[in-house]
Amino acid sequence: MRPEILNPLFASVKTLPGVGPRIAKAIEHCAGPLITDLLWHLPTGLIDRRFSPSVADAPEGVIVTLKLRIESHHKPRTKRLPYKVRCSDESGALDLVFFHAHEKYLLERLAVGEVRIVSGRTERYGEDIQIVHPDHITPEEEIESVQNVEPVYPLTAGLNLKPLSKAIGVALERTPELPEWCDAAYMARQNWPSWKQAILLAHGPHEEADLTPQSPARQRLAYDELLANQLALMLLRATMQRTTGRTTEGDGRLRQAVNKRLPFTLTAGQERAISEIEADLMAPHRMLRLLQGDVGSGKTVVALFTLLIAVEAGAQGVLMAPTEMLARQHLATLEPLLAESGVSTALLTGRGKKSERESILASLVVGDIDILIGTHALFQSDVEFSNLAVAVVDEQHRFGVHERMTLAAKGKEVDVLVMTATPIPRTLMLTAYGDLHSSRLTEKPDGRATVATRALPNGRIEEVIAGVVRAVKSGAKVYWICPLVEESEAVDLAAAEDRHVALGRIFGTRVGLVHGRMKSDEKDACMLAFESGALDIVVATTVIEVGIDVPDATVIVIEHAERFGLAQLHQLRGRVGRGNKPGICLLLYAPPLSATAQARLEILRETDDGFRIAEEDLKLRGAGELLGTRQSGLPQLRIADLACHSELLATACDDARLILERDPELQSARGEALRALLYLFERNAAARYLRSA
Ligand code: ADP
Ligand code: MG
Repeated sequence: MRPEILNPLFASVKTLPGVGPRIAKAIEHCAGPLITDLLWHLPTGLIDRRFSPSVADAPEGVIVTLKLRIESHHKPRTKRLPYKVRCSDESGALDLVFFHAHEKYLLERLAVGEVRIVSGRTERYGEDIQIVHPDHITPEEEIESVQNVEPVYPLTAGLNLKPLSKAIGVALERTPELPEWCDAAYMARQNWPSWKQAILLAHGPHEEADLTPQSPARQRLAYDELLANQLALMLLRATMQRTTGRTTEGDGRLRQAVNKRLPFTLTAGQERAISEIEADLMAPHRMLRLLQGDVGSGKTVVALFTLLIAVEAGAQGVLMAPTEMLARQHLATLEPLLAESGVSTALLTGRGKKSERESILASLVVGDIDILIGTHALFQSDVEFSNLAVAVVDEQHRFGVHERMTLAAKGKEVDVLVMTATPIPRTLMLTAYGDLHSSRLTEKPDGRATVATRALPNGRIEEVIAGVVRAVKSGAKVYWICPLVEESEAVDLAAAEDRHVALGRIFGTRVGLVHGRMKSDEKDACMLAFESGALDIVVATTVIEVGIDVPDATVIVIEHAERFGLAQLHQLRGRVGRGNKPGICLLLYAPPLSATAQARLEILRETDDGFRIAEEDLKLRGAGELLGTRQSGLPQLRIADLACHSELLATACDDARLILERDPELQSARGEALRALLYLFERNAAARYLRSA
């Protein structure tokens, strides 16, 4: 149960005075439906209204707060001209200017002969200074509420600053003092205010520095959020580990046989990953391990060995790929390696004959299939295993957490290995999964050549084409990537088709086209032709982004490289230089480049290290965008920004671990406060795992 003290904060914004249905809707859209959402809606700017010169000294184009006597009203001759109110102080006079004015209203608010405090931006009009539509007009007594620094909040269409500020003002009044959950010594060292104080300070900036993530108030609030996040993850994990998993132990016989058939020896990284996985499978708790490794780092073999351990133990394994093309490719890779091993495999995708599907399902449920490979089709409820022990999910960021769970639910305590070619920065890993176990393939398999990367403006496309002609003459295979970015897939497709036609004029029938709208067998046919050498060039939309392996492709041209994310470009580039021949990656861009786009292209030219690229990507983009919050299962962070609060995250992680070691059920006084913290950040599920909660 949520502690009572928090209840006022979880009331709807509709309960605030002055928030009618229309404004409520806009606020919900902009910040969220609850009062807490308003508290987390922090200002992004400020307006300083402390400058109060005399009228004669007021410069143009600045925000001023003036004390004025109302002299006279001047109604315009036509509706299109503005209504003017003449005001003055001892030093001179100025006009307040209103378009589409309501005369009656203005006569009341600006009654002739009275004194008013007026605040707004000055403008020059001929010789005179005027203020058009002042922001504030108040009686003299209220000067202190105006002559101040005013926070500026992010807005959406239909929501003005004034009603939002007013709503936030009331929310702040209703904010209670909460029991302290931070360690007193740490707080003192950081010079942090209490939670309530921090909320008030964050909403009452005095200078620009108060708006930065480094301000003490914002640091404190970010830390609170990260601490709640870490505690929640650790509580969930503790609960998961209480429910024991299965032990899967293989005798190594199949792995040895397959190892003999491999045309290469495993890298040290692959060996390490496999033994980490082996240990997880043997342990009585459930495995959830992430295998991270760049494109081409050799994850597939690790997946195969993982599946083989299950088969050696007399159980089944499943390998899920994000696309049909990839599922087929996995099968094509595994089949020859498994020949003569007695391991039976099958492919299950959304397509294929109904009768075939039925016979696969029938074999699966009696255990005649050892390793099943497939796509989303694996989720369907009629897919039943006899004894599923291990699930391997390839290219994880394409799947949601939900899907991972459904797959895992197909067996009893299935161990899960998630593979990703988009290395996840450590900070993101921590917030998304807690200290989830992860194996990293940091080295490339031996003999891998390097890929030279160059960025060129669009205008030099003729040179690029000439280069491609030369490369093809000397036997190179070339990818030509056109991005899918416009609103309409049709428009993008047209661009790819145009490029296909244009290159066709030069290369004739030796250019193929692959895009997302093609049937999978058409795609496969094209990729096969490319692999076998019947095609020299494949023009593709980003469908080739994930996984496709044509080891002797050496050139990749990426059009509109500025439209791709860093990680995506890195992935695309990974399509070449997979064999032993050096690769070339040409990035064509439309100038002028934004600063971020430029930084992206520079990082790519500088490094080929996926882990470093991931860290840089995080810095350039921010966490939410990096993985797609919903897709990755990454918790929404409201205040903390991983790009600048990573040190706080590390501390929060240590802190949470220490707290739960000492007080696993959060029963001490501080534990009580920490429960409130969990609810404050809506980690209710985690709080409920506490037995005595
Ligand atoms: P990814 O991590 O992108 O899935 P793959 O598993 O597809 O990478 O491997 C890329 C290529 O490297 C494949 O052709 C594979 O056969 C090869 N490969 C994998 N491991 C090694 C190794 N230890 N030595 C040499 N080549 C390897
Ligand atoms: Mg792969």
